[in-house]
Amino acid sequence: MTRKATHFDILDVPGAPEVTPKALFGMDREALASLLAEMGESAWRGRQLAEAIYVQRLTSINDITTLPLALRGRLTREGWEVGRPAIVQVFRSVDGTERYLVQGQSSGAKGVPETVETVWMPEGDEGEAGDGTEAGSDKRWERATICVSSQVGCAVNCQFCLTAKLGLQRNLGAGEIAGQVVAVLERQGVEIGKDRLNLVFMGMGEPLLNYDNFMGAVRLLVEEVGLSPLRMTVSTSGIVPGIESFGREPAEIRPKLAISLNAPNDAVRSEVMPVNRKWPIEAVIDAVRKVPLRPRERITFEYVLLGGVTNQPEHAREVARLVRRTGLPAKVNLIAWNPGPGIPYEMPAAGSVERFRDLLAAEGVPVYLRRPRGRDIYAACGQLKRTLES
Ligand code: SF4
Repeated sequence: MTRKATHFDILDVPGAPEVTPKALFGMDREALASLLAEMGESAWRGRQLAEAIYVQRLTSINDITTLPLALRGRLTREGWEVGRPAIVQVFRSVDGTERYLVQGQSSGAKGVPETVETVWMPEGDEGEAGDGTEAGSDKRWERATICVSSQVGCAVNCQFCLTAKLGLQRNLGAGEIAGQVVAVLERQGVEIGKDRLNLVFMGMGEPLLNYDNFMGAVRLLVEEVGLSPLRMTVSTSGIVPGIESFGREPAEIRPKLAISLNAPNDAVRSEVMPVNRKWPIEAVIDAVRKVPLRPRERITFEYVLLGGVTNQPEHAREVARLVRRTGLPAKVNLIAWNPGPGIPYEMPAAGSVERFRDLLAAEGVPVYLRRPRGRDIYAACGQLKRTLES
């Protein structure tokens, strides 16, 4: 009997691969050298392979012409592939922001491929009017920011965040995290060492709850791809053991740290971010104080303004006192909350965001207003949920 084809018929095709292919992407040069050494090759071939996949950004073993044909053939026969995560869908905003669905290296339940979201913001995240007036210009971007995901979904359950609605599906591997960056570098033709590029680990997921893979990705991006850790910022909801481990990382590979504060005190923060019940503000600040900062480095406090909940003048004064009390060199990044389906908050009233900024500035706290980017394509902060509508 012939059954009508359904989605699941397609997914359950006999012989469909259920195991993760053997991916070279994600291995550093030492791991690549050991792999090749097991095949009887010299260690320097590992460097060639790393150069090919991380610097030349090649995605097919066949194209790695620095390796002898026989070796390429053997790697392929033994089931190896470059296996870099791929951009499978692109949403483009009127403001030039692009949101990508990136397919990772592992398969999800029943072999369903899982995608994560990565966002490209040309001109950084502070420099545009945010109203689309720059769209259509032929001017090449002068600086840009890539927002990177660290998990499929998230377990932290911040009440204002769309990603939280997914729950945690799984951790991404180091290659899947670094691969989002390299796939975007390739798409945008970024020249390392020449173009001004920032990375923010602020996409889907809590990086410090996937610590080893997150830091593994940072190591690949610094040591193999050639990006500076001083141009990377990781944002955490306040995972104290993760912050403590982070503080012990060598300065040469440690990104800058941002704390997603989002509330003026523990009472409000516990409502908005239930993780605060486990690690309240003082515990987080204590852990941050142990992170050895480099010259001129500052801690960023991210603060999402929720209409009526966290955007009142008394909240601004309380945040100023809190930041001063930390004794840390710090700045505050304000973000007007971006609406999302099923999230019970309101956008802050017009004028309240500027008033909040002015109050902090008047109290002597360095403060920046992050302009909303890619709101029309669900690419803005807290909106990443693999939304398929553009
Ligand atoms: S804001 Fe970040 S940590 Fe909080 S639920 Fe969303 S993705 Fe997770």
